[in-house]
Amino acid sequence: MLIVLKERSNENLLTEIQTLLKNKFDCPSHVIGGNRRVIAVTGDTSVVDVEYLKSIAGIRSVDRVERAAMAKARGVKILRGGAYKPRTGPYSFQGKGEEGLKLLAKAGQKYGMKTISEIMKAEDLPAFEEYIDCYQIGARNMQNYELLKALGKSKKPILLKRGLAAKLEEWLLAAEYLLAGGNPNVMLCERGIRTFEEEVRFTLCLGSVPALRELTHLPIIVDPSHAMGKTRWVKDAALGGVAVGADGLIIEIHPRPGESTCDAAQLLDLEHWNECMDGVAAVAAAIGKRVV
Ligand code: PEP
Ligand code: MN
Repeated sequence: MLIVLKERSNENLLTEIQTLLKNKFDCPSHVIGGNRRVIAVTGDTSVVDVEYLKSIAGIRSVDRVERAAMAKARGVKILRGGAYKPRTGPYSFQGKGEEGLKLLAKAGQKYGMKTISEIMKAEDLPAFEEYIDCYQIGARNMQNYELLKALGKSKKPILLKRGLAAKLEEWLLAAEYLLAGGNPNVMLCERGIRTFEEEVRFTLCLGSVPALRELTHLPIIVDPSHAMGKTRWVKDAALGGVAVGADGLIIEIHPRPGESTCDAAQLLDLEHWNECMDGVAAVAAAIGKRVV
């Protein structure tokens, strides 16, 4: 559950509400975000009387945590959700298709966030154009040249993930398809490559970030979630991404990871994610950057 205080609320109110949560409802809470206005309540929040909290002057909103609310509270700008999923096996959850795009668009509108989703075939372009702000081309489709040609015609930004076994040159040439097609708004996403290593899901190639800096002007994003494959390793990989100069991160989060239909083992819950973002802010500051 997220409790957002009004702009002019003071530190006393913050402490008072935290004490109230502990004493009256027996729910632990912690403050998230640099502005000290958002309180995250953890544990069984069904015992919390939401209407009572809302009646307290100084509280702007109280939300039982929805998937997007926790992202918004920490300043996330772009919401990523998969509607068409490239699953390794045919019996795994394949995504909700167009219905998923609509849900993502709705969440984006509600929380004032841009949206991004993976497209797998050119036939789906009209639906994406209607509902989604930004395309993702997944690792498995990095060399789907017909898809690249079709997307080059769109004016919307495109996140091009690195293929599972793509050399930097091949990746940049795939990006070139998009640029040559007329779309200049391309971002590259390092998500790890396949090596002999099996402990981690993929081998996150952080060296690609400084190397790409010399080879291209395109923004570089790091995806620590799909590379590491385990929740407890995502934060360190994210910090590494920031340290080597990534322009952005994509991180998979979920209020209740165990309930996810996809990639449950690598998802960060609210608490882990908060910790991760605190680290990201600290590493960014250490190299003279800041999270926007
Ligand atoms: C994803 O971003 O959800 C995904 C499937 O990633 P990748 O294409 O990098 O495997
Ligand atoms: Mn995923």
